[in-house]
Amino acid sequence: MINLVLFGPPGAGKGTQSEKLIQKYGFVHISTGDLFRWHTKNDTPLGKRVKEIMNSGALVPDEITIAMLKEELDKNPQAKGFLFDGFPRTVPQAEALDAFMKANGSAIHHVIALNVTEEEVRTRIAKRRTIENRADDEEEKLNKRITEYFTKTIHVLPHYEKQGRLNTVEGVGNIEDIFKNICILINK
Ligand code: AMP
Repeated sequence: MINLVLFGPPGAGKGTQSEKLIQKYGFVHISTGDLFRWHTKNDTPLGKRVKEIMNSGALVPDEITIAMLKEELDKNPQAKGFLFDGFPRTVPQAEALDAFMKANGSAIHHVIALNVTEEEVRTRIAKRRTIENRADDEEEKLNKRITEYFTKTIHVLPHYEKQGRLNTVEGVGNIEDIFKNICILINK
């Protein structure tokens, strides 16, 4: 069983690479962004709580995010391995994830950070905005999301670096080449 965290700023290609990794390795995909979007779309009590926060581009409070993640883990006791996409985004989230994994006799084996410049991310999201029409891709909200990444989420990297689990993959270029480089790290 391998558990993987795919890390990177909004628009780094985490969604695209996740799909390919799931196909190849059979991971259970846990994307907290997708889960929150499901809740807001279906107007659940959780969705109602997070809708405004998400639309502003801010991070949902840790307490809510960690509880939702735990529920998702508990739904999949037979998972061959998890691929975490968009989680953890803060150090308390990373610590909670370590604790959940440890409680199940497991661990996060690989953290793969997609290295993409801020400029590239902005170009990609502008393109995605025209295709997916995501409310949080609008420019002002995007600025907030990028700020959240560079002020809060980036601090998760040293957490995993200290554990010797962090690897970086160049996230600009051909999708297949990026995928190959991720697979090399997983198969090491
Ligand atoms: P994403 O699709 O991963 O970019 O997530 C979309 C939005 O969902 C983010 O801008 C946050 O508002 C919220 N979100 C997703 N994952 C997290 C997380 N791990 N911690 C806090 N907020 C999150």
